[in-house]
Amino acid sequence: DPRIHGIKTKIRVVPNFPKPGIMFQDITTLLLDPKSFKDTIDLFVERYKGKNISVVAGIEARGFIFGPPIALAIGAKFVPLRKPKKLPGDVIFEEYTLEYGRDRLEMHVGAVQLGERALVVDDLIATGGTLCAAMNLLERVGAEVVECACLIELPDLQGRERLNGKPLYVLVEYQ
Ligand code: 5GP
Repeated sequence: DPRIHGIKTKIRVVPNFPKPGIMFQDITTLLLDPKSFKDTIDLFVERYKGKNISVVAGIEARGFIFGPPIALAIGAKFVPLRKPKKLPGDVIFEEYTLEYGRDRLEMHVGAVQLGERALVVDDLIATGGTLCAAMNLLERVGAEVVECACLIELPDLQGRERLNGKPLYVLVEYQ
């Protein structure tokens, strides 16, 4: 799809952020270009429209940028999966390992019902730990995760292998 090339050129790579040796993929430059931002949303919407998805779960923070416009366009609800102690209601949580230490994602109890069809959205998959935690939250309440969707994949980190065979759709890959 010719739109993908335009999207790729709008993602800025920032060396040594947030620490030395990391090549940070910065999507804020994509957001500055309305055409590329819209193309991004459109590509996901074209893929998921008519697939009977009732919930789009977005991962804090950048899944909150891309998830809601996709949810609105396909007629699904949006559920935020948040970092600890941000959600005010009762939550369930999943812990996952980071390069140093652990983090967790939380989801409101009652936001997703048994049997719902869910799409998980984030900006980027690296090791896959974050998406894996997100899928576990949804599956624990009896939802079916149809697919995970990210703008960017870092294939060298083999995050795909951590998704237990769940399909992952990405727009661009960075070696
Ligand atoms: P993982 O759990 O797959 O190792 O890391 C993915 C999570 O870290 C995502 O929530 C993503 O937003 C964030 N992340 C890691 N590296 C980058 C990066 O280079 N750019 C951006 N935008 N996010 C990153």
